[in-house]
Amino acid sequence: MYKPLIDRLERQNILTQDEYLLLIENRETIREYAYERAFAVRRKYYGNKVFIRGLIEFSNYCRNNCYYCGIRAGNNNLERFRLTPDEIIDCAKQGYSLGFRTFVLQGGEDAHYTDDDFCFVIENIKKEFPDCAVTLSLGERSSESYKKLRQAGADRYLLRHETCNPDHYKKLHPPAMSYENRLRCLEDLKRLGYQTGAGFMVGSPYQTNADLAGELVFLKKLNPQMIGIGPFLPHKDTPFKDMAAGSSEMTLFLISLIRLTLPQALIPATTALGTADPLGREKGILAGANVLMPNLSPVKTRKKYMLYDNKICTGDEAAACIECLARRIKKTGCEIVTDRGDYQNGIQC
Ligand code: SAH
Repeated sequence: MYKPLIDRLERQNILTQDEYLLLIENRETIREYAYERAFAVRRKYYGNKVFIRGLIEFSNYCRNNCYYCGIRAGNNNLERFRLTPDEIIDCAKQGYSLGFRTFVLQGGEDAHYTDDDFCFVIENIKKEFPDCAVTLSLGERSSESYKKLRQAGADRYLLRHETCNPDHYKKLHPPAMSYENRLRCLEDLKRLGYQTGAGFMVGSPYQTNADLAGELVFLKKLNPQMIGIGPFLPHKDTPFKDMAAGSSEMTLFLISLIRLTLPQALIPATTALGTADPLGREKGILAGANVLMPNLSPVKTRKKYMLYDNKICTGDEAAACIECLARRIKKTGCEIVTDRGDYQNGIQC
């Protein structure tokens, strides 16, 4: 009964919110088929390639107070750190020698760094490694700031919208933050020519299945090049410490629906997915994901970038992480490659 819906989704890349909801609520019966089709669609555009992005977590200072996040401003139990611009550039250098051709700079919203600081880092990385992409994940900024960073050479920007439901947004964030500003940022980024990434947590507190169906409709309309989703995982020093974790199984099913809805998207199998299920990242690849984001941050600061409890890969050197991932991914029939891994607009393998 649900197979024709998956087939139509594969053909037309769109369903109604009610149809998505029907699939989500009945995923038990159709899951394996959805994974199989999503894997096939992924292969059509990207072959068996899995792209790697070197994640540099440069600061855990944050001015925001998101109720779910372990590095929120209100968490006084956390030792704060920030890397200097030169230390960030050094991480990229190390990553380059390990084969990375994309660097993702991610941090809390830390006003210590000026636009000029970020421009300095971006310009230096691009000058030294012109064959690399620089991806930013710096949170919400002004339109002017996004423009400067883009002019300095940044190629991509990750900014998860977190939820497409404005009422739900209010339940996850304090009044100082707004859904409208988050969307304004995403529109700015698209307009400025960044390859743009959106996304949300699966199973965040107060989220309903109808919200999840709404996410697919929302993503289809926004049409971002990258889509990151992962299960919500509680952090002990946040207001959501006693909330239930999101499900890795639901996350996998949604990855497959996202792949069928946006066939060419770059979709990571996230660290949160690998934390919720020890085989989560491999399963994510088999459900249609095509990106992995191993950590390039110095080992000494890794444990301090704890967005949620029990985060994996906080002890290993980057080189060891890559080896481990390469071994895991091989079992899926895919292969980690060192290409920049840009969005494939219209091109099929
Ligand atoms: N300050 C940046 C980076 C945020 S951290 C920004 O605002 O974009 C990157 C992502 O981690 C967030 O967008 C959020 O979706 C996810 N995240 C934060 N806390 C989490 C938690 N407790 N469980 C799972 N994912 C979490």
